[in-house]
Amino acid sequence: MQGESSTKKEKLYAESFREEWLQDPELKNWLQQDKNDKEASYCNYCNVTLKSANKSILLQHKSSVKHKICFDVAKSSVVITVPNDITRLTEEDNRRMMG
Ligand SMILES: [Zn+2]
Repeated sequence: MQGESSTKKEKLYAESFREEWLQDPELKNWLQQDKNDKEASYCNYCNVTLKSANKSILLQHKSSVKHKICFDVAKSSVVITVPNDITRLTEEDNRRMMG
């Protein structure tokens, strides 16, 4: 009788946010836990929620074109504010256009 009945079932966990990702140099700069959905990850740069993402999905997101663009924008941290003068000028232009 071979009574080694260790039927190990590998349970498939739904991928949810892990605290350890915040320590990961590849993720920590842009990743955070979603405020509304504790299971979800959130990209600081793209302002998107990554639901049921595992690490490979997160790395895929990191290498996506969209993320790179958002990263560049965030990195440059140039706040594009339209000075009041410009709106004033365009208003004047409009008036001129109207005659
Ligand atoms: Zn992103």
